[in-house]
Amino acid sequence: MLHYSIAVIPGDGIGPEVMDEGLKVLKAIEESHGGVRFANDVMDWNCNYYLKHGKMMPDNGLDTLKDYDLILLGAVGAPGVPDHISVWELILPIRRAFQQYVNLRPVKLLKGLESPLRYKNHADLDFVVVRENTEGEYSNMGGRMHQGTPYELAVQNNVFTRYGTERILKYAYSLAEKRPKKRLTAATKSNGINHSMPFWDEIVKEVNQEHPGITTNLYHIDALAAYFITRPEEFDVVVASNLFGDILTDLGAAIVGGLGLAPSANINPERKFPSMFEPIHGSAPDIAGKGIANPIAQIWSLSMMMDHLDLPEISSVIMNAIEQVLVDGKVLTPDLGGNATTRELGDEIVRQIYQAT
Ligand code: ATP
Ligand code: MG
Repeated sequence: MLHYSIAVIPGDGIGPEVMDEGLKVLKAIEESHGGVRFANDVMDWNCNYYLKHGKMMPDNGLDTLKDYDLILLGAVGAPGVPDHISVWELILPIRRAFQQYVNLRPVKLLKGLESPLRYKNHADLDFVVVRENTEGEYSNMGGRMHQGTPYELAVQNNVFTRYGTERILKYAYSLAEKRPKKRLTAATKSNGINHSMPFWDEIVKEVNQEHPGITTNLYHIDALAAYFITRPEEFDVVVASNLFGDILTDLGAAIVGGLGLAPSANINPERKFPSMFEPIHGSAPDIAGKGIANPIAQIWSLSMMMDHLDLPEISSVIMNAIEQVLVDGKVLTPDLGGNATTRELGDEIVRQIYQAT
């Protein structure tokens, strides 16, 4: 029997709503597929916690998390708390402390769904974006000066270390080796950003030397964004810096059906620290409390967790269950054109999981 401990952080808004469905799926996996057990501890670290304690998590929060095998996150953020608080005080410290330098975001059109891109079918939309997750444009270095004067200015430095750049590119290339098209696309902007991006390009070319079987393209981010729309079938692994990856993956989510369907994994490839799995979407205050959020992004993130644990069969069971529900098309949340609730869609996926045994 395999045992894993999970720190569960449901968070705010629709986070707890979609997490409930995720936890039901984990239970269904335990009961229906045997061989694996999850011990879940739920942490109440969210914006309510912040309003009570002036911080998003206890001082020993990271120390607590360190001892878990995995972290499962819903979404954080609430109207009464500035956005950067939940990001800078919870998500970024976790990603950095646990060296989750790979942010993996699949862009895959699931069976049963149509892409908003006309003429594009399922085989055209199946790639993965590898986003650098610890440095780049999200550096916290810089400052503001001369406030209140006509000379007011703000400076934000981008930080690209050789260490950080090499390790993300090495990861992306090794992933490309395992994928069908043997193709890697790197996002750049070395025509406009003249220090960090040429450095990035150089390291792409260096790491490429170690992977002669992989075809590499370096595309400027603006053109690359357009190609996501006009020729997505070209992509297999797309690797990008922190900010570019963030933008590309919201675009990627949009071309395969929307944020309610977009999962992500924050991976520490060395497995020295826990990795974290979460939907890409935020806490969506506009629909929170209505019970209509789509839980698929959260449940898909569990399938990514199973891949990380080297349990590909369980990962497939989860994906097949999601796709079966989409193909049946009877139980869908409003973002997918149906009128089912979060719970009804979760129940239907769970039913499919039991049925697969
Ligand atoms: P963040 O700043 O945390 O990224 P955001 O302001 O970008 O958050 P999200 O919370 O990601 O916004 O959501 C954007 C919109 O997408 C929401 O207003 C909501 O209508 C829709 N949305 C997001 N997630 C879901 C979901 N799981 N199901 C249905 N609709 C969703
Ligand atoms: Mg957002």
